[in-house]
Amino acid sequence: MSVSFYNTLSRKKEAFEPLHPTNVRMYVCGPTVYDYVHIGNAVPVVAFDVLFRLLRHLYGEDCVTYVRNITDVDDRIIERAAESNQDIGELTARTTLAYQRDMAALINLSPSVEPRATDHIEQMVTMIETLLQNGHAYEAENHVLFRVKSDDGYGALSGRTLEDMIDGARVEVAPYKEYAGDFVLWKPSDDGVPGWDSPWGRGRPGWHIECSAMSKAYLGETFDIHGGGLDLIFPHHENEIAQSACSHGGAPLANVWMHNGFITVEGQKMSKSLGNFFTVHELLEEWPGEVLRYTLLAGHYRRPLDWTQKGMTQARQNLNKFYQTLRMLEDVEAAPSEPSERLVSALCDDLNTPKALTVMHSLKDDANRASSEAEKAKLKGELLASGALLGLLQQNPMDWLQGIAIVPMQSMHMEVEVGPSVDEDYINQMISDRNEARKNKDFGESDRIRDALAEQGIILEDGPQGTTWKKA
Ligand SMILES: [Zn+2]
Repeated sequence: MSVSFYNTLSRKKEAFEPLHPTNVRMYVCGPTVYDYVHIGNAVPVVAFDVLFRLLRHLYGEDCVTYVRNITDVDDRIIERAAESNQDIGELTARTTLAYQRDMAALINLSPSVEPRATDHIEQMVTMIETLLQNGHAYEAENHVLFRVKSDDGYGALSGRTLEDMIDGARVEVAPYKEYAGDFVLWKPSDDGVPGWDSPWGRGRPGWHIECSAMSKAYLGETFDIHGGGLDLIFPHHENEIAQSACSHGGAPLANVWMHNGFITVEGQKMSKSLGNFFTVHELLEEWPGEVLRYTLLAGHYRRPLDWTQKGMTQARQNLNKFYQTLRMLEDVEAAPSEPSERLVSALCDDLNTPKALTVMHSLKDDANRASSEAEKAKLKGELLASGALLGLLQQNPMDWLQGIAIVPMQSMHMEVEVGPSVDEDYINQMISDRNEARKNKDFGESDRIRDALAEQGIILEDGPQGTTWKKA
């Protein structure tokens, strides 16, 4: 099957050929841990989780290494800790755990490695020393800066001139810089601020060098795919490329650069002042993680995504339909199956998840129409295997329809219960199933439905106007 992804570096869709098919390597920039992440931060996590699942399917589960870092030293962390009078270690440990829980609730696999920046200071210092030795960096007033003009390749990813990039990004001008575009590799730390001893005094790394050092530690000098949000292209990814290439004799950092698009909320830019700033944590109080995941997958990762109430409602309705089909097939044993070939081919075409979901719907419709047991078993197997490739439909259908979404927390060997307990669509569907059963004089089934609802605290009342329900 041909595999191709859009490469930001070449600005076109390219056939994907891993450097080593027995070890396909991917790095994605992770969060800076000082608060709950917002829904926009979940976009790359879910998109690259589908990519991780696809690569494992194509090359073998043990043949893919996925690294997503945790930035646990950063000025925003220091500021937040000072403002709220918290210990930095406690703040980063707590928000890291919250992030991991939120991402597990969105049914993301844990990456192969989730390195923390503070565990890799030594590797950062080594890389900075190399850059100083070969003239790509200089020391000034206890800082070490990258000399941007020493790198001919600088700007290749964003495709803009140095001046344009610097004007656009409002780069910090400091008197000790040789040139405004030069960026910090190491900076001094005052007392009371995290710092490590280095050849340049007690200090801490700049953000960009963290990713260059951590990707090298786990993936080597050149690896296959580097991912992240569109907003990271400049300066973060441009700077990662410069540092890595200049300390590795020009070897490219990654062959393919993949970027997800921006997110808006109900057509507007997401901002705290507009009151449309949603953290994943808040959304999970109202919606099962699988609904949020489905909503994200309904759009193509490179397109702008408009996050709406309507989108989440539709996602839930769609998932209800899938789980109703699976419930109908509950007594059918799924035939062992590979994911649908049409679905795999949609994902191999630059992760076309909207098309993959269309394939899922057609599998479901076929399953609903299937008459023979063999056909039902085959379609159930295919639906489940295809769903697994997207990270969908892995829950017990009855649990889903009863509104209990349980997601395994792989990394912490615990389970998180998320989502609401009452879903009107589901109750109405159950009532109509029960009416159908009664019409067919299948009183066993109609009693089963009534009892199942009663167990969830929903009481049905039959009256002259039909059946109504109330909470017990
Ligand atoms: Zn990064």
